[in-house]
Amino acid sequence: MAEQGWAIATDFLPLWILRELAEEADRLWRQGRFRPTGIERGSKYQIHQDVRNDLIFWWDECTPTPIQHIYRAEIGRLRQALNEASFLSLVEFEVHCAVFPPGAFYRRHRDQFLTADERMISWYLNTAWDEADGGALRIYDPEGVDVAPHAGTFVLLRSDTVEHEVLPTRQERFSMTGWLRRAREFRILSNIPE
Ligand code: MN
Repeated sequence: MAEQGWAIATDFLPLWILRELAEEADRLWRQGRFRPTGIERGSKYQIHQDVRNDLIFWWDECTPTPIQHIYRAEIGRLRQALNEASFLSLVEFEVHCAVFPPGAFYRRHRDQFLTADERMISWYLNTAWDEADGGALRIYDPEGVDVAPHAGTFVLLRSDTVEHEVLPTRQERFSMTGWLRRAREFRILSNIPE
């Protein structure tokens, strides 16, 4: 991670946790709770279906379900290890589930945030995935490294500096993506007349 800005692991989380997260995502998807995504362009938030056409569901951090609570605790341990290993001070964690219906993709990009040093974490939730199903995460380093979205596979990525892409999928593809980031820095604007 420190050298190349990304890392891949498997078996980081027990399978039962991933199974429950996958069931929850699938249920929310069937209930029509996912929404089309947008991307930031200047000051405008727009839907650009030529850039990405997945659908997402943001977790509500105030009212986590029991399995979300367990997942957050696991992420907390990971965050602590990252902070200790690289002298970071990542404190916040936002997460959403994403579904890529057949034909969906997310073109090559970098994540654009307001502050540097975010770390993206993606977990894949698809128990039966074949190479022919497509939908790999391609990490440009600078050549493409393709990661199939098998359940249990886990990618940690410096997503503001490392370009990445989701190749078109042929099957419904579920993932969870979260961003670890520093505490928001609040700027106090002094506007008091002298
Ligand atoms: Mn991204």
